[in-house]
Amino acid sequence: MKYVSTRGSAPELEFEDVMLAGLARDGGLYVPSVWPSFTAEKIAAMAGKSYSEIAYQVMAPFVGDSIEAQEFKALIDQAYGSFAHKAVAPLVQADANLWILELFHGPTLAFKDFAMQILGLLMDRALKKRGERATILGATSGDTGGAAIEAFRGRERIDIFILHPHGRVSDVQRRQMTTAREDNVFNIALEGTFDDCQGVVKGLFNDHAFRDGYHVTGVNSINWARIMAQIVYYFTSAVALGAPERSVSFSVPTGNFGDAFAGFVAKKMGLPIEQLVVATNVNDILVRVLETGVYKPDGVLATHSPSMDIQVSSNFERLMFEMTGRDATRIEALMNELATSGSFTLSENELAPMRTLFQGERVDEEATVARIKMQYELCQYVIDPHSAIALEAGARSARGGASMIALATAHPAKFPDVVSGSIGHDVVQPTRLQAQLHEEERVERLPCGGGAVSAYIASKTRAGGS
Ligand SMILES: *Cc1c(COP(=O)(O)O)cnc(C)c1O
Repeated sequence: MKYVSTRGSAPELEFEDVMLAGLARDGGLYVPSVWPSFTAEKIAAMAGKSYSEIAYQVMAPFVGDSIEAQEFKALIDQAYGSFAHKAVAPLVQADANLWILELFHGPTLAFKDFAMQILGLLMDRALKKRGERATILGATSGDTGGAAIEAFRGRERIDIFILHPHGRVSDVQRRQMTTAREDNVFNIALEGTFDDCQGVVKGLFNDHAFRDGYHVTGVNSINWARIMAQIVYYFTSAVALGAPERSVSFSVPTGNFGDAFAGFVAKKMGLPIEQLVVATNVNDILVRVLETGVYKPDGVLATHSPSMDIQVSSNFERLMFEMTGRDATRIEALMNELATSGSFTLSENELAPMRTLFQGERVDEEATVARIKMQYELCQYVIDPHSAIALEAGARSARGGASMIALATAHPAKFPDVVSGSIGHDVVQPTRLQAQLHEEERVERLPCGGGAVSAYIASKTRAGGS
């Protein structure tokens, strides 16, 4: 399988190179040159299969011949074997035609584990094969850092450096990062805000001598391998509810649009998806663009669902590429317009096909809390704020006979304050989390400027350098 960039001027690459590169050299995002597609018979035959078996079938066309089948299967088993539920992504019924897909049984209790766990194994394997090492660098305001550290700790060929704003992440989130004992894990508490952290990381990525010298790479959701791993649970859940004979709809709590784009790919591959609800909090850039065609980032507001507090939705570029008939020249022009004037506007021709599948739904803070409370009163089921947004948006949008599946992306114990406030008592903590709360923390506190971060990384990483 070859991959092309949405901006048209980066070289076509194979799967492994795309995974190791992250962003394309022309600033675009990689997508497969063609979408694989499954017949109805092939999808029907997935019924009753395990998560790992379906994961192999769904991902195999994307990795092509870069990994041999048996080895890939073993890596998939290893990645999802650490999940706390045998079904990996179990479905729970919330109402007559409304379902919850629990994506929080991974080691860090958030859906990012689905992509990170397999990415960690695939990257380490690719580097071993090439006799190379890499330095992973990222900034986090919460979940991503924990999921990345959990996936990359102890990997032979990789050192991971995660920056978080000192004193500005929750206790649970900090401990999930800082209690990793492996010596390839480096936590940096930066004296600044999350934006400062991102600024430092961006600066280092743009410093080509540093980046190439220490083989620096990223694992944020622009990495194609992460999207690929998220297509799988669209298949497992749809098939469990009667696909391909019955169609289904999904409600996706959305930030960077990676997860929703994975749903789009599942549809491209032949899964009968009626509707994809793009559920956002008050940071609603995607709802606005679907309504008006105008893509215009605003200031970010802090909400109960911090993992969706974004103002730039990077993966939306992949959807635009598809909806313009893969017109890289048009994408390049739109992104330049965004950079120079702060916004761009899609044409009716580009919007119309988006609107037939996607529906935007904005859920404000009050409605989020109300949904947590209501779901609890309805059936004693406790959900986190991100999942509540998906459920509320899904309930509002359901139409026709298709079952609506709301993606539950985080465990309620990760957001104890707002959840216990909504349901009126404490949230039960999974044992996995309890254990972490007592372990020793390891973290390096560094100032924002003066090259302290680059000097620290240079002195610690095993990749490149001398
Ligand atoms: C990252 C995240 C999201 C948003 O997913 P995107 O792929 O960025 O749209 C939603 N919920 C939780 C809990 C997350 O961590």
